[in-house]
Amino acid sequence: MTDLNSIYAAEIADKPKFPPPTGNLYCEIAVIGGGFTGMIAALTLAENGHDVALVEADVIGSGGSGRNGGHVCQGWPNDFHHISRQLPADEAQLIWDAGMRAVDLLRQRVQRHKIDCDLRFGYLHAALHGRQMQELLAMRNEWQAKGYDHLTALDNRDSLAGHIGTNAYVGALHDANSGHIQPLKYLYGLARAASAAGARIYEHAGVTALDATPNTARHSASNKGTGNKGTGTKALSLANGQKITAKFVLLCGNAYLQNIGTRKMTSRLAPVTSSVLATTPLSDNLISHILPHRAAVADCNTALNYYRIDADSRMIFGGRASYTNVSLGNVERDLKQRMVDVFPELGESETAAVWSGRIGITVNRIPHFGTAGDGVFFVQGFSGHGVALTGLAGTILANHIMGQSRLFSILSKLCHLPFPGGFLQTPALALGMSWYKMRDYLRL
Ligand SMILES: Cc1cc2nc3c(=O)[nH]c(=O)nc-3n(C[C@H](O)[C@H](O)[C@H](O)COP(=O)(O)OP(=O)(O)OC[C@H]3O[C@@H](n4cnc5c(N)ncnc54)[C@H](O)[C@@H]3O)c2cc1C
Repeated sequence: MTDLNSIYAAEIADKPKFPPPTGNLYCEIAVIGGGFTGMIAALTLAENGHDVALVEADVIGSGGSGRNGGHVCQGWPNDFHHISRQLPADEAQLIWDAGMRAVDLLRQRVQRHKIDCDLRFGYLHAALHGRQMQELLAMRNEWQAKGYDHLTALDNRDSLAGHIGTNAYVGALHDANSGHIQPLKYLYGLARAASAAGARIYEHAGVTALDATPNTARHSASNKGTGNKGTGTKALSLANGQKITAKFVLLCGNAYLQNIGTRKMTSRLAPVTSSVLATTPLSDNLISHILPHRAAVADCNTALNYYRIDADSRMIFGGRASYTNVSLGNVERDLKQRMVDVFPELGESETAAVWSGRIGITVNRIPHFGTAGDGVFFVQGFSGHGVALTGLAGTILANHIMGQSRLFSILSKLCHLPFPGGFLQTPALALGMSWYKMRDYLRL
């Protein structure tokens, strides 16, 4: 089995394993990608009686879903005005409400499928200086006005001190309805539930080509209650030459999508590398000083630090986004320095593991929903905010195929700007992000 290279994989003895396909596949819906998005779409469709095959190029969890920081964050990833200014008020309200259900959906899935994944609530958005605190207070006011009542401002060092032992921040916003999770345990639980519901799951089954030209003469798959009928079947090719014939296709590869993204998709997604360090278990005494309630924390910088104490008392510390193709250099040393800058007490801590992964970002940080051919739908670009939102997105894709929701149609109307193209993409992105990093550094 491929080494997932995160500490999450190493601690799970009983990993679910799925075979590669042994011949050509016929299904009503082919889901490409075994992360949260694809798995939740497959689970939802299978629970509703649809014939689903999920194909994963590597192993389940080899993309972002098996290697992320485990932060479960409420709502949409950036200022909601990026969405609301593009939509009529009633549609914007529908989208806002959907975003605010993302964490509840995750919690319900964990309970319904009895997934043991260390879900814990409590979240701090931490401000490094006055402007960031003002922005957090504005966010609190906006969210409260829309009915979200889980936020508490910790706007001075005294109120902050009960939640976190550091001088790094001037204040924070506490969110009682966001938290953290062991992401790979969650994904494996979803995979078991999807398989039990009848979804066929295949590993080592990379799709190398997709022909989305409608072909009504090909095998006609079952069509149980699908509200959004494609006009024919699609042909997918696997690396070993096998074929998949499906009426619908869901592209759920996000920043790891190989071979088959359309120009519209690839031009609007930038893969950014982020890295995570896990310490060996910390003492209860130390944890009671630095994070007594074991809340997850993210600061407000563009290249942010995000961290939490996991169920095994390890500090899981992420950050160090790289927007260029240059080597990450000494990731461990850099992450450790960032961690010690926040908590000097961790200077003597030992590192248990360091790993990296690709985050798919969009220009406005809002996920990009769309259609990539007749009966072929995609979502991508969770912009580092996908643990809860992918669950909502996978459900939206599934409901769109079943004709049960307007959300996909509304979200796919949103305009997403392309990143500067061709060979300029990486330098231009790095230059743009350098400005924001400099602004954070200067605390403007
Ligand atoms: C280091 C890191 C830290 C992060 N921390 C957080 C966090 O704390 N909180 C948060 O909310 N989000 C976080 N994220 C983002 C989050 O992990 C992602 O938004 C989320 O996992 C995306 O899920 P997905 O299912 O869309 O894609 P993925 O989990 O990336 O899954 C896509 C899958 O598709 C497969 N695939 C691609 N192409 C093909 C093909 N042609 N054929 C078959 N299979 C294919 C890939 O192998 C992959 O397994 C982090 C991401 C990283 C990398």
